[in-house]
Amino acid sequence: MSDTIFGKILRGEIPCHRVYEDDLVLAFLDIFPLSKGHTLVIPKRAVATLDQLDDDSAAALGRVLPRIARAVLAASGARNFNVLQNNGEGAHQAVHHVHFHIIPKFDDGRGLGIKWQPGKLDNAEGATLAAAIAGRLA
Ligand code: 5GP
Repeated sequence: MSDTIFGKILRGEIPCHRVYEDDLVLAFLDIFPLSKGHTLVIPKRAVATLDQLDDDSAAALGRVLPRIARAVLAASGARNFNVLQNNGEGAHQAVHHVHFHIIPKFDDGRGLGIKWQPGKLDNAEGATLAAAIAGRLA
């Protein structure tokens, strides 16, 4: 994949406010936060989207996300938060290096705004689709 701003942060070429680092993961404050404490958690492996990520990096992210979330909550004073993970420009991804947003949600509304427009799952379609997904996971 082409280099990104997060690659430059990982190589120390541009600064960041680092909150956590291990062999596979780096976490730092978002430079344009939606709310106080908005943190980005990234794998050191440079792939664009989550579906391309190797199991070891994925496991490392999963292991530390709850711990980082607890620290962000404690430091920001928020009680609630969203985890956002965008994949592809059509899904609002601007930086093409996998990243998880941890976004504190405050009682006054600061944080992630969500426009949720649910459909209704048809039973037959659901069965077909679940089988198609499960078949690719087998
Ligand atoms: P995306 O829309 O790709 O999911 O989010 C990318 C995030 O990266 C945005 O929230 C944006 O504010 C953040 N960001 C972009 N450039 C920089 C940077 O140079 N430093 C930091 N800390 N965050 C950045």
